Amino acid sequence: MDTPSRSLATEAVHAGREDLAALGLHAVPLDLSTTYPSRDSRGEAARIDEFAATGARPEGPPVYARLDNPTVARFEDALARLEGTESAVAFASGMAALSAVLLVRGSAGLRHVVAVRPLYGCSDHLLGSGLLGTEVTWTDPAGIASAIRPDTGLVMVETPANPTLAEVDLRAVAHSCGSVPILADNTFATPVLQRPAESGVRLVLHSATKYLGGHGDVLGGVVACDEELARGLRQIRFATGGVLHPLAGYLLLRGLATLPVRVRAQSASAAELARRLSEDPRVSRVHYPRIGGAMVAFEVAGDPHGVIGGVDLITPAVSLGSVDTLIQHPASISHRIVEEADRRSGGISERLLRMSVGLEDVEDLWADLDRALSATAAPARQQERAAR
Ligand SMILES: *Cc1c(COP(=O)(O)O)cnc(C)c1O
Repeated sequence: MDTPSRSLATEAVHAGREDLAALGLHAVPLDLSTTYPSRDSRGEAARIDEFAATGARPEGPPVYARLDNPTVARFEDALARLEGTESAVAFASGMAALSAVLLVRGSAGLRHVVAVRPLYGCSDHLLGSGLLGTEVTWTDPAGIASAIRPDTGLVMVETPANPTLAEVDLRAVAHSCGSVPILADNTFATPVLQRPAESGVRLVLHSATKYLGGHGDVLGGVVACDEELARGLRQIRFATGGVLHPLAGYLLLRGLATLPVRVRAQSASAAELARRLSEDPRVSRVHYPRIGGAMVAFEVAGDPHGVIGGVDLITPAVSLGSVDTLIQHPASISHRIVEEADRRSGGISERLLRMSVGLEDVEDLWADLDRALSATAAPARQQERAAR
């Protein structure tokens, strides 16, 4: 595994762009071509054969946009550097990225997945529904070793997990897995707070839609991994077509430049809001991870729907990781697709709210939350009084 010699903040600004000055450019070129003219069809045939045989990123002029795109390749190179992996493969969304991982393991006859709840709602659904032929065993981290079978192709964890921010000890999981690759969804932590590959994780998944993009205007996914796994993922991507659009690749690379400053600033506000919420009698429980981060989850004593309806500065919306603060009710939205009993076993209560803290001033955010909490806490107290 490559340990970058430069700091993360420097890599975030320069990785994937080192050749620009020699090209006489400052901004990253955006290549929107779907196809590339060539009078050398023998040369193209050789590049296609090479890709089919190995899955290595094609060298020489690109052939077709579903195979390779230079702008997307820059984003992949930069993300691999930030995660400290050999390679990265980008996809149209986080779910397209996870699908490719399941397909590549399944194509090797390894359809069984061991997974720890909670996971993002659609990830839970994709594993559990068997839509891609996956068979899943749900367990807690301590049960991983005994859940592994000869046909287990993947162990999947999320840490901090969506939406409860539960943490998993990746080193301990890596120890339990033997040679079975671990996929860790690193969407919430980002490489700024945690680099799972350093703990023995072989596949680091991101919904790039969230912090990597950071502005709520681009959908994408990426898997950072070793080159051997990347080759299989590129072949699946070419065959199934879940490619990242070059404009999305451009925006994601631009997003990476400010990732460290955004995550640190947003995390400082989130920690302060988590502290105030944990001292607030209108809140029964606060979930904030030990490693920090810009996500806060909390259970309210009153009606969680009232808080969603009561915020004004904070946007009531699903998704996360943007420069503006978002709040949502997981049981209604992000984890709606998960069966109620499975939600409960994953610790997702009906009173839980999940907040993605943005770059606004923390006092303005607190004023908005405080107002929304008061609006819902009052009727709850009145009901209590009426019941007495
Ligand atoms: C949003 C999300 C995903 C899915 O990503 P999309 O880009 O929406 O497909 C996967 N994992 C986590 C933790 C997420 O928050």
